[in-house]
Amino acid sequence: MSTSSPHSVPRVLVVEDNAAFLDNLRELLDDAGYRVTGAVSCREALDRAEAGFDVALVDLRLPDGEGTELARDLKDRVPEAEVVLLTGFATVETAVAAVRAGACAYLMKPCAPSELLLTLEQAMRQVRLHEEKRELARRAQVAEKLAAVGSMTASLSHVIRNPLNAAALQLAVLERRVRRLAEEQQPALLDPLLLVRDEIRRLDHTLEDFLQFARPRGFRPEPVEVKALLRRVVDFLGGKADERRVRLELEGDGGAALPPLRGEEERLRQVLIHLTLNALEASPEGGWVRLSVAREGGLACIGVEDSGKGVPQDIQERVFEPFFTTKDEGSGLGLSIVQSIVMQHGGSLQVVNAPSGGARFLLRLPLLP
Ligand code: ADP
Repeated sequence: MSTSSPHSVPRVLVVEDNAAFLDNLRELLDDAGYRVTGAVSCREALDRAEAGFDVALVDLRLPDGEGTELARDLKDRVPEAEVVLLTGFATVETAVAAVRAGACAYLMKPCAPSELLLTLEQAMRQVRLHEEKRELARRAQVAEKLAAVGSMTASLSHVIRNPLNAAALQLAVLERRVRRLAEEQQPALLDPLLLVRDEIRRLDHTLEDFLQFARPRGFRPEPVEVKALLRRVVDFLGGKADERRVRLELEGDGGAALPPLRGEEERLRQVLIHLTLNALEASPEGGWVRLSVAREGGLACIGVEDSGKGVPQDIQERVFEPFFTTKDEGSGLGLSIVQSIVMQHGGSLQVVNAPSGGARFLLRLPLLP
Protein backbone atom coordinates (compact mmCIF):
# COMPACT_ATOMS: atom_id res chain seq x y z
CA MET A 1 0.00 0.00 0.00
CA SER A 2 1.31 3.41 -0.84
CA THR A 3 0.61 6.91 -1.96
CA SER A 4 1.23 7.62 -5.63
CA SER A 5 4.42 9.29 -6.81
CA PRO A 6 4.13 13.09 -6.68
CA HIS A 7 3.83 13.32 -10.46
CA SER A 8 1.14 10.71 -11.05
CA VAL A 9 -2.62 11.24 -10.99
CA PRO A 10 -3.74 11.88 -7.38
CA ARG A 11 -6.01 9.17 -6.02
CA VAL A 12 -8.98 9.89 -3.78
CA LEU A 13 -10.86 7.31 -1.78
CA VAL A 14 -14.41 8.57 -1.15
CA VAL A 15 -16.26 6.81 1.68
CA GLU A 16 -19.92 7.80 1.69
CA ASP A 17 -23.00 5.61 2.21
CA ASN A 18 -25.37 7.92 0.35
CA ALA A 19 -25.09 6.53 -3.19
CA ALA A 20 -26.40 9.66 -4.92
CA PHE A 21 -23.98 11.93 -3.03
CA LEU A 22 -21.15 9.50 -3.73
CA ASP A 23 -21.95 9.67 -7.47
CA ASN A 24 -21.95 13.48 -7.36
CA LEU A 25 -18.61 13.56 -5.62
CA ARG A 26 -17.18 11.02 -8.03
CA GLU A 27 -18.23 13.09 -11.04
CA LEU A 28 -16.91 16.33 -9.60
CA LEU A 29 -13.55 14.82 -8.64
CA ASP A 30 -13.20 12.91 -11.91
CA ASP A 31 -13.63 16.18 -13.78
CA ALA A 32 -11.04 17.85 -11.56
CA GLY A 33 -8.46 15.24 -12.59
CA TYR A 34 -8.52 12.91 -9.57
CA ARG A 35 -8.68 9.14 -9.84
CA VAL A 36 -11.63 8.25 -7.63
CA THR A 37 -12.42 5.03 -5.80
CA GLY A 38 -15.75 4.83 -3.96
CA ALA A 39 -16.74 2.85 -0.86
CA VAL A 40 -20.05 2.77 1.04
CA SER A 41 -18.86 1.32 4.36
CA CYS A 42 -15.81 1.13 6.64
CA ARG A 43 -15.23 -2.47 5.63
CA GLU A 44 -15.29 -1.69 1.92
CA ALA A 45 -13.08 1.37 2.48
CA LEU A 46 -10.39 -0.72 4.20
CA ASP A 47 -10.52 -3.25 1.36
CA ARG A 48 -10.21 -0.53 -1.25
CA ALA A 49 -7.38 1.16 0.68
CA GLU A 50 -5.23 -1.91 -0.03
CA ALA A 51 -4.63 -0.60 -3.56
CA GLY A 52 -3.26 2.68 -2.12
CA PHE A 53 -4.63 6.23 -2.12
CA ASP A 54 -3.45 9.77 -1.52
CA VAL A 55 -6.44 11.41 0.18
CA ALA A 56 -9.52 9.78 1.73
CA LEU A 57 -12.75 11.74 1.95
CA VAL A 58 -14.65 10.07 4.76
CA ASP A 59 -18.24 10.57 5.92
CA LEU A 60 -18.48 10.82 9.71
CA ARG A 61 -21.48 8.45 9.96
CA LEU A 62 -21.18 5.15 8.19
CA PRO A 63 -23.44 2.10 8.42
CA ASP A 64 -20.83 -0.10 10.08
CA GLY A 65 -18.89 2.40 12.18
CA GLU A 66 -17.72 5.93 12.88
CA GLY A 67 -15.79 7.95 10.29
CA THR A 68 -13.29 8.97 12.99
CA GLU A 69 -12.47 5.32 13.71
CA LEU A 70 -12.07 4.65 10.01
CA ALA A 71 -9.83 7.72 9.61
CA ARG A 72 -7.55 6.31 12.31
CA ASP A 73 -7.45 2.88 10.65
CA LEU A 74 -6.72 4.38 7.23
CA LYS A 75 -3.89 6.53 8.64
CA ASP A 76 -2.46 3.43 10.33
CA ARG A 77 -2.43 1.58 7.05
CA VAL A 78 -1.20 4.41 4.82
CA PRO A 79 0.56 6.90 7.13
CA GLU A 80 1.74 9.10 4.24
CA ALA A 81 -1.86 9.68 3.02
CA GLU A 82 -4.26 12.33 4.33
CA VAL A 83 -7.88 12.08 5.50
CA VAL A 84 -10.59 14.72 5.18
CA LEU A 85 -13.77 14.12 7.21
CA LEU A 86 -17.24 15.02 5.96
CA THR A 87 -19.80 15.90 8.57
CA GLY A 88 -23.48 16.83 8.69
CA PHE A 89 -23.00 19.26 11.60
CA ALA A 90 -19.88 21.09 12.56
CA THR A 91 -19.43 21.34 16.31
CA VAL A 92 -16.37 21.88 18.40
CA GLU A 93 -16.60 18.21 19.41
CA THR A 94 -16.57 16.98 15.80
CA ALA A 95 -13.62 19.25 15.01
CA VAL A 96 -11.69 17.90 18.00
CA ALA A 97 -12.62 14.31 17.11
CA ALA A 98 -11.47 14.89 13.53
CA VAL A 99 -8.07 16.19 14.64
CA ARG A 100 -7.68 13.37 17.15
CA ALA A 101 -8.41 10.86 14.41
CA GLY A 102 -5.52 12.29 12.39
CA ALA A 103 -7.67 14.06 9.76
CA CYS A 104 -6.07 17.10 8.18
CA ALA A 105 -9.43 18.89 7.63
CA TYR A 106 -13.16 18.46 7.90
CA LEU A 107 -15.96 19.75 5.69
CA MET A 108 -19.64 20.45 6.33
CA LYS A 109 -22.16 18.69 4.08
CA PRO A 110 -23.35 19.72 1.59
CA CYS A 111 -20.16 21.55 0.77
CA ALA A 112 -19.57 23.90 -2.14
CA PRO A 113 -17.53 22.24 -4.94
CA SER A 114 -14.94 25.02 -4.80
CA GLU A 115 -14.45 24.51 -1.07
CA LEU A 116 -14.16 20.74 -1.50
CA LEU A 117 -11.61 21.09 -4.31
CA LEU A 118 -9.58 23.62 -2.36
CA THR A 119 -9.49 21.36 0.70
CA LEU A 120 -8.41 18.39 -1.43
CA GLU A 121 -5.71 20.48 -3.06
CA GLN A 122 -4.36 21.43 0.36
CA ALA A 123 -4.45 17.81 1.46
CA MET A 124 -2.57 16.80 -1.70
CA ARG A 125 0.03 19.48 -1.00
CA GLN A 126 0.51 17.89 2.40
CA VAL A 127 0.85 14.43 0.81
CA ARG A 128 3.51 15.75 -1.59
CA LEU A 129 5.39 17.29 1.31
CA HIS A 130 5.45 13.91 3.06
CA GLU A 131 6.69 12.38 -0.19
CA GLU A 132 9.47 14.97 -0.55
CA LYS A 133 10.51 14.46 3.06
CA ARG A 134 10.71 10.73 2.52
CA GLU A 135 12.73 11.23 -0.67
CA LEU A 136 15.17 13.54 1.16
CA ALA A 137 15.55 11.03 3.97
CA ARG A 138 16.17 8.29 1.40
CA ARG A 139 18.85 10.35 -0.34
CA ALA A 140 20.52 11.16 2.97
CA GLN A 141 20.59 7.46 3.74
CA VAL A 142 22.16 6.68 0.36
CA ALA A 143 24.77 9.42 0.86
CA GLU A 144 25.57 7.99 4.28
CA LYS A 145 25.96 4.51 2.83
CA LEU A 146 28.23 5.88 0.09
CA ALA A 147 30.45 7.66 2.58
CA ALA A 148 30.74 4.55 4.73
CA VAL A 149 31.53 2.41 1.71
CA GLY A 150 34.06 4.88 0.37
CA SER A 151 36.13 5.09 3.52
CA MET A 152 36.23 1.35 4.10
CA THR A 153 36.40 -0.07 0.64
CA ALA A 154 39.80 0.92 -0.71
CA SER A 155 41.85 -0.55 2.11
CA LEU A 156 39.72 -3.67 2.38
CA SER A 157 39.81 -4.27 -1.37
CA HIS A 158 43.60 -4.07 -1.45
CA VAL A 159 43.91 -6.42 1.49
CA ILE A 160 41.72 -8.95 -0.29
CA ARG A 161 43.16 -8.39 -3.73
CA ASN A 162 46.78 -9.23 -2.97
CA PRO A 163 46.19 -12.82 -1.78
CA LEU A 164 43.58 -13.20 -4.51
CA ASN A 165 46.11 -12.28 -7.21
CA ALA A 166 48.61 -14.71 -5.69
CA ALA A 167 45.98 -17.47 -5.72
CA ALA A 168 45.07 -16.69 -9.36
CA LEU A 169 48.73 -16.88 -10.32
CA GLN A 170 49.26 -20.25 -8.64
CA LEU A 171 46.09 -21.53 -10.24
CA ALA A 172 47.41 -20.56 -13.67
CA VAL A 173 50.60 -22.52 -12.93
CA LEU A 174 48.50 -25.48 -11.84
CA GLU A 175 46.36 -25.25 -14.97
CA ARG A 176 49.44 -25.33 -17.19
CA ARG A 177 50.76 -28.43 -15.38
CA VAL A 178 47.41 -30.20 -15.64
CA ARG A 179 47.24 -29.49 -19.37
CA ARG A 180 50.58 -31.24 -19.76
CA LEU A 181 49.18 -34.48 -18.28
CA ALA A 182 47.76 -37.31 -20.35
CA GLU A 183 44.44 -36.38 -21.98
CA GLU A 184 42.31 -38.84 -19.98
CA GLN A 185 43.65 -37.56 -16.66
CA GLN A 186 42.84 -33.93 -17.38
CA PRO A 187 39.03 -33.54 -16.94
CA ALA A 188 38.91 -34.77 -13.33
CA LEU A 189 41.47 -32.12 -12.35
CA LEU A 190 40.63 -29.43 -14.86
CA ASP A 191 36.89 -29.18 -14.14
CA PRO A 192 37.20 -28.13 -10.48
CA LEU A 193 40.24 -26.01 -11.33
CA LEU A 194 38.32 -23.97 -13.93
CA LEU A 195 35.45 -23.60 -11.52
CA VAL A 196 37.77 -22.08 -8.91
CA ARG A 197 39.30 -19.83 -11.60
CA ASP A 198 35.85 -18.50 -12.58
CA GLU A 199 34.95 -17.83 -8.95
CA ILE A 200 38.21 -15.93 -8.44
CA ARG A 201 37.44 -13.86 -11.55
CA ARG A 202 33.98 -13.05 -10.23
CA LEU A 203 35.42 -12.00 -6.88
CA ASP A 204 37.96 -9.86 -8.71
CA HIS A 205 35.19 -8.10 -10.69
CA THR A 206 33.26 -7.40 -7.52
CA LEU A 207 36.40 -5.95 -5.94
CA GLU A 208 36.91 -3.78 -9.01
CA ASP A 209 33.35 -2.45 -8.57
CA PHE A 210 34.11 -1.60 -4.95
CA LEU A 211 37.35 0.14 -5.89
CA GLN A 212 35.61 2.24 -8.54
CA PHE A 213 33.34 3.39 -5.80
CA ALA A 214 36.11 4.38 -3.47
CA ARG A 215 38.13 6.10 -6.17
CA PRO A 216 36.18 9.13 -7.29
CA ARG A 217 38.45 11.02 -9.66
CA GLY A 218 38.54 14.35 -11.42
CA PHE A 219 36.47 15.21 -14.46
CA ARG A 220 38.24 16.09 -17.71
CA PRO A 221 35.53 16.59 -20.32
CA GLU A 222 36.19 16.59 -24.05
CA PRO A 223 33.89 16.51 -27.09
CA VAL A 224 32.49 12.99 -27.53
CA GLU A 225 30.78 11.97 -30.80
CA VAL A 226 27.49 10.27 -29.92
CA LYS A 227 27.34 7.97 -32.92
CA ALA A 228 30.91 6.73 -32.53
CA LEU A 229 30.30 6.15 -28.83
CA LEU A 230 27.16 4.08 -29.40
CA ARG A 231 28.72 2.18 -32.30
CA ARG A 232 31.69 1.22 -30.15
CA VAL A 233 29.40 -0.09 -27.40
CA VAL A 234 27.35 -2.15 -29.88
CA ASP A 235 30.50 -3.56 -31.51
CA PHE A 236 32.08 -4.35 -28.16
CA LEU A 237 29.04 -6.25 -26.90
CA GLY A 238 28.12 -7.92 -30.21
CA GLY A 239 29.80 -11.19 -29.21
CA LYS A 240 28.08 -11.24 -25.83
CA ALA A 241 24.70 -10.63 -27.50
CA ASP A 242 25.29 -13.49 -29.98
CA GLU A 243 26.28 -15.76 -27.10
CA ARG A 244 22.97 -15.01 -25.37
CA ARG A 245 21.07 -15.15 -28.70
CA VAL A 246 19.76 -11.63 -28.20
CA ARG A 247 19.61 -9.13 -31.09
CA LEU A 248 21.54 -5.97 -30.23
CA GLU A 249 20.73 -3.02 -32.46
CA LEU A 250 21.29 0.69 -32.82
CA GLU A 251 18.18 2.55 -33.92
CA GLY A 252 18.16 5.03 -36.84
CA ASP A 253 21.33 6.94 -37.63
CA GLY A 254 22.62 6.61 -34.05
CA GLY A 255 22.71 10.37 -33.48
CA ALA A 256 24.98 11.18 -36.46
CA ALA A 257 23.41 14.64 -36.79
CA LEU A 258 23.88 15.62 -33.13
CA PRO A 259 26.60 17.91 -31.86
CA PRO A 260 29.15 16.15 -29.63
CA LEU A 261 28.53 15.42 -25.96
CA ARG A 262 30.58 17.08 -23.27
CA GLY A 263 32.21 14.31 -21.32
CA GLU A 264 34.82 11.61 -20.91
CA GLU A 265 34.54 9.01 -23.65
CA GLU A 266 35.86 6.14 -21.58
CA ARG A 267 33.55 6.72 -18.66
CA LEU A 268 30.51 7.22 -20.88
CA ARG A 269 31.36 3.98 -22.63
CA GLN A 270 31.53 2.30 -19.23
CA VAL A 271 28.05 3.66 -18.43
CA LEU A 272 26.55 2.42 -21.69
CA ILE A 273 28.28 -0.94 -21.50
CA HIS A 274 26.86 -1.50 -18.03
CA LEU A 275 23.32 -0.51 -19.04
CA THR A 276 23.51 -2.66 -22.17
CA LEU A 277 24.95 -5.66 -20.30
CA ASN A 278 22.10 -5.45 -17.77
CA ALA A 279 19.65 -5.22 -20.68
CA LEU A 280 21.19 -8.27 -22.41
CA GLU A 281 21.01 -10.20 -19.15
CA ALA A 282 17.37 -9.23 -18.67
CA SER A 283 16.32 -10.26 -22.19
CA PRO A 284 15.24 -13.82 -22.93
CA GLU A 285 16.79 -15.93 -25.69
CA GLY A 286 15.44 -14.69 -29.04
CA GLY A 287 14.82 -11.22 -27.57
CA TRP A 288 16.35 -7.87 -28.43
CA VAL A 289 18.12 -4.85 -26.93
CA ARG A 290 17.84 -1.51 -28.68
CA LEU A 291 19.98 1.60 -28.25
CA SER A 292 18.46 4.83 -29.49
CA VAL A 293 19.22 8.53 -29.30
CA ALA A 294 17.09 11.65 -29.63
CA ARG A 295 17.73 15.32 -29.09
CA GLU A 296 15.90 17.12 -26.26
CA GLY A 297 16.96 20.76 -26.51
CA GLY A 298 20.53 20.99 -25.25
CA LEU A 299 20.54 17.34 -24.21
CA ALA A 300 21.01 14.02 -25.92
CA CYS A 301 18.58 11.42 -24.62
CA ILE A 302 20.07 7.96 -25.04
CA GLY A 303 17.69 5.05 -24.51
CA VAL A 304 18.66 1.48 -23.69
CA GLU A 305 15.56 -0.66 -24.02
CA ASP A 306 15.23 -4.41 -23.63
CA SER A 307 12.73 -7.19 -24.15
CA GLY A 308 12.88 -8.47 -20.57
CA LYS A 309 10.27 -8.25 -17.84
CA GLY A 310 10.97 -4.61 -16.91
CA VAL A 311 11.71 -3.20 -13.45
CA PRO A 312 8.76 -3.49 -11.03
CA GLN A 313 7.35 -0.05 -10.18
CA ASP A 314 8.13 -0.34 -6.46
CA ILE A 315 11.86 -0.86 -7.00
CA GLN A 316 12.42 1.63 -9.83
CA GLU A 317 13.92 4.19 -7.43
CA ARG A 318 15.88 1.63 -5.46
CA VAL A 319 17.83 0.11 -8.36
CA PHE A 320 20.23 3.10 -8.19
CA GLU A 321 20.97 2.56 -4.49
CA PRO A 322 24.35 1.03 -3.68
CA PHE A 323 24.09 -2.70 -2.85
CA PHE A 324 20.56 -3.02 -4.18
CA THR A 325 20.36 -6.16 -6.27
CA THR A 326 17.78 -8.80 -7.16
CA LYS A 327 20.42 -11.11 -8.62
CA ASP A 328 21.88 -14.03 -6.68
CA GLU A 329 25.37 -13.07 -7.73
CA GLY A 330 24.97 -9.31 -8.14
CA SER A 331 26.93 -6.73 -6.14
CA GLY A 332 24.25 -4.08 -6.63
CA LEU A 333 26.98 -1.49 -7.24
CA GLY A 334 26.80 -1.18 -11.03
CA LEU A 335 23.93 1.26 -11.36
CA SER A 336 25.07 3.41 -8.44
CA ILE A 337 28.52 3.77 -10.04
CA VAL A 338 26.82 4.53 -13.37
CA GLN A 339 24.58 7.08 -11.66
CA SER A 340 27.54 8.88 -10.07
CA ILE A 341 29.38 9.07 -13.42
CA VAL A 342 26.24 10.47 -15.07
CA MET A 343 25.87 13.07 -12.33
CA GLN A 344 29.51 14.05 -12.73
CA HIS A 345 28.66 14.74 -16.40
CA GLY A 346 25.76 16.99 -15.38
CA GLY A 347 23.29 14.45 -16.77
CA SER A 348 20.51 12.29 -15.38
CA LEU A 349 19.51 8.65 -15.48
CA GLN A 350 16.01 7.30 -15.16
CA VAL A 351 14.32 3.96 -15.64
CA VAL A 352 10.80 3.49 -16.97
CA ASN A 353 8.98 0.48 -18.29
CA ALA A 354 8.51 0.59 -22.04
CA PRO A 355 5.13 -0.20 -23.66
CA SER A 356 6.69 -3.54 -24.74
CA GLY A 357 6.98 -4.43 -21.04
CA GLY A 358 10.79 -4.35 -20.92
CA ALA A 359 12.96 -1.83 -19.08
CA ARG A 360 13.97 1.43 -20.74
CA PHE A 361 16.89 3.31 -19.18
CA LEU A 362 16.99 6.93 -20.28
CA LEU A 363 20.34 8.66 -20.08
CA ARG A 364 20.28 12.43 -20.62
CA LEU A 365 23.62 14.14 -21.23
CA PRO A 366 24.51 17.73 -22.12
CA LEU A 367 25.52 18.44 -25.70
CA LEU A 368 28.14 20.98 -26.65
CA PRO A 369 26.55 24.09 -28.19
P1 ADP B 1 23.59 -5.90 -10.16
O1 ADP B 1 23.56 -6.12 -11.65
O2 ADP B 1 24.84 -6.33 -9.49
O3 ADP B 1 22.34 -6.40 -9.47
P2 ADP B 1 22.99 -3.12 -10.80
O4 ADP B 1 23.23 -1.92 -9.95
O5 ADP B 1 23.54 -3.10 -12.17
O6 ADP B 1 23.60 -4.31 -9.94
O7 ADP B 1 21.44 -3.40 -10.90
C1 ADP B 1 20.61 -3.36 -9.73
C2 ADP B 1 19.30 -4.04 -10.01
O8 ADP B 1 18.55 -3.31 -11.00
C3 ADP B 1 19.38 -5.44 -10.60
O9 ADP B 1 19.65 -6.42 -9.61
C4 ADP B 1 18.01 -5.60 -11.24
O10 ADP B 1 17.05 -5.92 -10.26
C5 ADP B 1 17.69 -4.19 -11.70
N1 ADP B 1 17.92 -4.01 -13.15
C6 ADP B 1 18.95 -3.38 -13.75
N2 ADP B 1 18.83 -3.39 -15.08
C7 ADP B 1 17.68 -4.03 -15.37
C8 ADP B 1 16.98 -4.37 -16.58
N3 ADP B 1 17.46 -4.04 -17.78
N4 ADP B 1 15.79 -5.04 -16.46
C9 ADP B 1 15.32 -5.39 -15.25
N5 ADP B 1 15.93 -5.10 -14.07
C10 ADP B 1 17.09 -4.43 -14.12
